[in-house]
Amino acid sequence: MNHLDFWNKTKDELKKRLPAHTFDTWLEPIEVLELGVVDTVLQVPNQFFSEWVDTHYSKQILRAINETGMKTKNLKFVVSGESLQTDPKESVNGVKAPTRNMRPKHLNASYTFDNFIEGPNNQFAKAAAQKVSSSLGNQSFNPLVVYGGVGLGKTHLLHAIGNEIVATQPRTKIVIASSEKFTLDFITSIQKNNTSDFSKSYRVADVLLIDDIQFFQKKEQTQEQFFHTFNELYQLGKQIVMTADRYPGEMSGLQDRLLSRFQSGLSVDVQPPNYETRVAILMDKAEINGLELPYDIIEFIAMHLKNSVRELESTIIRLLAHASLSQVDIDFPLVKKVLKERLGDVISADISAEDIINRVADLTNVRSDDIVGPSRRKEIAEARQISVYLCRELLGLSLSTIGMHFGGRDHTTALHACNKVRSSLKSDKRFNRIVGKVKDDFSFAIV
Ligand code: ADP
Ligand code: MG
Repeated sequence: MNHLDFWNKTKDELKKRLPAHTFDTWLEPIEVLELGVVDTVLQVPNQFFSEWVDTHYSKQILRAINETGMKTKNLKFVVSGESLQTDPKESVNGVKAPTRNMRPKHLNASYTFDNFIEGPNNQFAKAAAQKVSSSLGNQSFNPLVVYGGVGLGKTHLLHAIGNEIVATQPRTKIVIASSEKFTLDFITSIQKNNTSDFSKSYRVADVLLIDDIQFFQKKEQTQEQFFHTFNELYQLGKQIVMTADRYPGEMSGLQDRLLSRFQSGLSVDVQPPNYETRVAILMDKAEINGLELPYDIIEFIAMHLKNSVRELESTIIRLLAHASLSQVDIDFPLVKKVLKERLGDVISADISAEDIINRVADLTNVRSDDIVGPSRRKEIAEARQISVYLCRELLGLSLSTIGMHFGGRDHTTALHACNKVRSSLKSDKRFNRIVGKVKDDFSFAIV
């Protein structure tokens, strides 16, 4: 049985179990791209669809797949890139002419350089990826490895390279696959006795894009295959780009010769986005999805979700779902609810003195560096005192620890600041407003 048969069987099962309208709306439009022991990749029409199915039906889908005898652990969704596909041409008599679709099957058209928001955390990776797209096979960038944590844009960059090449050099043959798919293709070819077809399908590439090479760990025979594919392409000057969840040198379970190949070009990392980049990403994602979000809500989300762009993106989608399905306005209570669903209590431990300082800096127009610096200018000293007070109130830090966060001041200075703010709060409206705002912003995280 091939993966389509498995998928059809899965759908038959789901059809029996779900109400007809649910099945027609949410399951029928799904196509299967890969069916793997670790990940099964499903293609859905849009981002909203992906979030909805992921939240509401992924358990049922997984169960149904596994019951067909095909074992898989996770579902991944990719949004179909229909809009960028070449249009089928109508011939004179109205019969569709065969289309010459230059797009590789697994290339996701929605991941481009244009919609990849740049920040200090990913600038270098993006620049390297763009450079590769325009000068394929350049030795200093071959292979290019993009590595970093989950949800930080590695897959996005990999596909952006593919899309850029499709747009600018349409004759270039791109092969793109996850390392899981590579593994699965290889295993299937062994079963079917056609390993030479398998080799060919990868070795025809002018550009080979392989996602998540950490999955090659401990799969000796697959590594062997990959090594040969890699060498052959490399020697022909073909470009190879790979992504990984950590620096290749730190991957255990990969043969040394493979590791040294991986490291012979350029390795670049993607880091979690900083506050400003998170705000920019949220604004962009909201706009793409036609969601109007007040700026203070965007700031609020950016303050609480720090670790992955995927989280930011799916929060926007969830807000959109709530707003459109239950016809409610997007306000703070809704945002807090959505964030809570997403993160539970994880964020409570996540606020640091630095977050408080940054937030006070924003609200007082004083630079964070100045707050922890030596200046005694009135507005700086005030912002510093407020920050100290909030670190004490919200984080419960000891006075000497607080002193350390504020440029190595001693505990009496911190105590003085706390007392000063406490007494100002009795009469000073501005102090009240700033303290109130920061407490409110973070209160959700500390209840
Ligand atoms: P990774 O492969 O590193 O786990 P992905 O590339 O799958 O992460 O990114 C997760 C989601 O976040 C994707 O939908 C991607 O489009 C989006 N994303 C990640 N980084 C950015 C960015 N810098 N700008 C815009 N969208 C991004
Ligand atoms: Mg990825």
